[in-house]
Amino acid sequence: MNDILPADSPVWQELEETARRVFSTYGFREIRVPVVEKTELFCRSIGEATDIVEKEMYTFTDKGGHSLTLRPEGTAPVMRAFIQHKLHAADPIAKLYYCGPMFRHERPQKGRYRQFHQIGAEVIGVDDPKIDAQLLAMLVNYFDEVSIDDVELQINSLGCPECRPGYRQALVTFIEQRLDSLCDDCRRRYRNNPLRTLDCKVPGCRQATLDAPSVLDHLCGGCEDHFARVRRYLKNLRLPFAVNPRMVRGLDYYCKTTFELLTNRLGSQSAVAAGGRYDGLIRQLGGPDLPGIGFAMGLERLVLLKETADREHPAPALFIAGLGEAAADEAFRLMSLMQRSGIEVEMDYQGRSLKAQLRRADKLGAAQVLIIGEDELARGSAQLRTMADGSQQEVRLDIDTLRTLFT
Ligand code: ATP
Ligand code: MG
Repeated sequence: MNDILPADSPVWQELEETARRVFSTYGFREIRVPVVEKTELFCRSIGEATDIVEKEMYTFTDKGGHSLTLRPEGTAPVMRAFIQHKLHAADPIAKLYYCGPMFRHERPQKGRYRQFHQIGAEVIGVDDPKIDAQLLAMLVNYFDEVSIDDVELQINSLGCPECRPGYRQALVTFIEQRLDSLCDDCRRRYRNNPLRTLDCKVPGCRQATLDAPSVLDHLCGGCEDHFARVRRYLKNLRLPFAVNPRMVRGLDYYCKTTFELLTNRLGSQSAVAAGGRYDGLIRQLGGPDLPGIGFAMGLERLVLLKETADREHPAPALFIAGLGEAAADEAFRLMSLMQRSGIEVEMDYQGRSLKAQLRRADKLGAAQVLIIGEDELARGSAQLRTMADGSQQEVRLDIDTLRTLFT
């Protein structure tokens, strides 16, 4: 787990603020859900035979004897809230986004943490592939807005309950002929979740499954048509993409369109955003039979991609140096008034010498320093010093004069 220190928070804020701005242009509204849910919610949605549920969840029993889990992802909690509050009664189409920490007990490495942060978006209630394309357009637009440009969009279709069983069977038959070349994990789980074999990161498994059957050859008419229309809309919108039939995603609820945004700058942790359609999920969780599609992006990986960006804290507009107790009290009063007017002002709290105070002002990067000496205080004036050239001018010591000078 990771601390985000003040030097890093500007880039986090930029990533979050840009998401709020861009997503609201596309009609999305924020939803905030708890970080803890009943364990059963994740087992039922993500799937028992997935990496997340098998080995990555932080699960504990609370004092009331209930099994709870720190959320490993955002879609299931958002769907739980959608159903619980019957949001569909007010509007059968919902566009929601969320932002916050997720928890997975994984092996820590660069770009992979146990508490990490995602911003995600979900559209509920629209079957039409236009919404698949629009969601991808929003995602790509977001990456443009935060100036991360070396990412590739890959898409795939995972079929639906009608055509997926046929594909699974074809894949199981294929895998059974290669069992000797597969890792222990894949050998153990290929019957429960054969698609995971295609996603295995072990080189031997990659090699052995190079000529595995493609899901795209097994799509039913409906899924094929949906996927063709998604590709057509993406072309109309001039969004470059590549079709990757091996992309399977690690969560069971996906169907039809799935996608990832990849970069080659983060080694094997290359997916910076990922998502797909989950048409049966809401009904499976006890809600109405509404389709859904969404994505989540990993903020830590976005921050790594933006590492070179300038992230200086803006300097205060003014530093007020008071010499002697009465002057320091006046400095304190003026500072508070200016801060209330929205002007960033700093002062010295320790009653130090003028030289020490100027050093502090310089360290903070203040362009100007208001020096209040005891004599000047009595006269109702002060010296305004420009740090760049050391020049000084006398100014009247009242808040209106200062406000006019600094706004
Ligand atoms: P990966 O293949 O890298 O494990 P995933 O398929 O498990 O990713 P998703 O569950 O789809 O990831 O989550 C979406 C995004 O969240 C990922 O693309 C990634 O950017 C980010 N993410 C996932 N797990 C972590 C983690 N442990 N630490 C940091 N970011 C993560
Ligand atoms: Mg993972």
